[in-house]
Amino acid sequence: MYRTNTCGELRLSDAGKDVMLAGWVQRVRKMGGMAFVDLRDRYGITQLVFNEEINHALCEQANNLGREDVIQVKGKVNERECKNQHLPTGEIEIVVNELNVLNSSEVPPFTIEDHTDGGDDLRMKYRYLDLRRGCVRKNLELRHQMTMEVRRYLDSKGFLEIETPMLIGSTPEGARDFVVPSRMNPGQFYALPQSPQTLKQLLMVAGMDRYFQIVKCFRDEDLRADRQPEFTQIDCEMSFVEQDDVIELFEGMAKHLFKTIRGVELTEPFPRMPWSEAMRLYGSDKPDTRFGMEFVELMDVLQGTGEFSVFNDARYIGGICAPGCATYTRKQIDQLTDFVKRSQIGAKGLVYARVQEDGSVKSSVDKFYTQEVLQRLKETMQAHAGDLILIMSGDDAMKTRKQLCELRLEMGNRLGLRDKNKFSLLWVVDFPMFEWSEEEGRLMAMHHPFTHPKDEDIPLLDTHPEQVRADAYDMVCNGVEVGGGSIRIHDPELQDKMFKILGFTEERAQEQFGFLMNAFKYGAPPHGGLAYGLDRWVSLFAGLDSIRDCIAFPKNNKGRDVMLDAPAALDQKQLDELNLSIDIKE
Ligand code: ASP
Repeated sequence: MYRTNTCGELRLSDAGKDVMLAGWVQRVRKMGGMAFVDLRDRYGITQLVFNEEINHALCEQANNLGREDVIQVKGKVNERECKNQHLPTGEIEIVVNELNVLNSSEVPPFTIEDHTDGGDDLRMKYRYLDLRRGCVRKNLELRHQMTMEVRRYLDSKGFLEIETPMLIGSTPEGARDFVVPSRMNPGQFYALPQSPQTLKQLLMVAGMDRYFQIVKCFRDEDLRADRQPEFTQIDCEMSFVEQDDVIELFEGMAKHLFKTIRGVELTEPFPRMPWSEAMRLYGSDKPDTRFGMEFVELMDVLQGTGEFSVFNDARYIGGICAPGCATYTRKQIDQLTDFVKRSQIGAKGLVYARVQEDGSVKSSVDKFYTQEVLQRLKETMQAHAGDLILIMSGDDAMKTRKQLCELRLEMGNRLGLRDKNKFSLLWVVDFPMFEWSEEEGRLMAMHHPFTHPKDEDIPLLDTHPEQVRADAYDMVCNGVEVGGGSIRIHDPELQDKMFKILGFTEERAQEQFGFLMNAFKYGAPPHGGLAYGLDRWVSLFAGLDSIRDCIAFPKNNKGRDVMLDAPAALDQKQLDELNLSIDIKE
């Protein structure tokens, strides 16, 4: 036996007990004739104490310990003289009478404490050391608790956890596939699932009725803070349901998680916002509704009412009202202008208007507009003395709204309105079925090609497909899309039509999705579902900015695992076995 207790367990009530502990040396301190060692394991830290006068050799041994050595000690629990209120075990220490070094450690490349001196890259390379830090380990503990609660909730609702294969064919979630060459089928490749979408639909045809899986998905796309090439979904599907049934069940799951993990009771139904409204008011299909500052359209007020040609030529003019910001300095305004002009946002400029204490309006376009027009602007914006109105315009309404969205979020940050401990949830519904892809020169499915159009919009499929709305829904929390799904097409004819609109030839549709179309010939139940992004949920609950820190072994923003040094080249023998030859183009 290595230990009787963990390093996080012992309390004052254990004083006098003989115990054995094992763990890592966090720190050694010498003080007078004493040595103190902080012993750490997953559960906490316990102070060990060695007294030179009582056992000189043992104390010497303790003094010689290095950081991260793995040791085992035997000793007696003792009430501490100097108690440490910040540590759960801070009222006791272990007076050690035997010390065994189980494994010594080299000096670690960074200090393994919450406030570490290790930079990002170094910590990723030695991720197994990084994970020893309490603040990182906490995230994995939270992740575990959340998956347990997800399983508890879904099990209580009759869902079956079913695994689906990783080596499959292409799945249509709109990203590039990661592919795996098949040795036994020369020249052929598996694709790793972008999601188990088609498989879970087949499970509905198979009569499984309610399916879920906590599953890895793989998408080869450019990475951002909330994206990893492999990530985890809580993937679900249900039979004989309509949109309201799915929304109700998974809103229940979100509430269950908030209650059990955060202790927050959410009693009200989550608001549902049509996609068009989300775009109009926030310029985003995942609006951060922790704060207001909604967009106000200003075409009526500012177009044709003055000599400002930028506005007069625009297809969209919109503004936000930043409360109390009229005192912004020139420099602050310049910073905002630079912010919207950055290449990621790409706006041409920013117009501002300050509402003065006396109610008059002073703006950067004063010379083009009368005070009367500016007063109308103030009224339309519902702005008050001390407010700053920020206005953007452009010839593409969608693009300009997205730019204004970035500005709104930036102002939210500046004004401290995006509090990580406040949660604002909603469903965005009624997504358009299709979006136009400039790159592809055709309509693309906004969700995926199996999404059911709204019944009342089906007649528009033939005439105005771009106006068709879908039975699709996303759950949004604090400006993050935490999940999304749809009701699926279960009628083979309608599915056929969808493929046609999406530009699939009959042969290609058959080649790529023949298995699904075939299955639908044998009695497919009406069905629908959703997938929650587990990594996003955990990072939201943990208050993290990136999903990376709630993943045990994440990849960096070039998609590399710097610890394993992957991806890497294959040796010639492996290539030969796979019938592959490499020809890297510039
Ligand atoms: N497969 C979809 C996705 O990964 C989710 C769903 O429609 O259930 O986004």
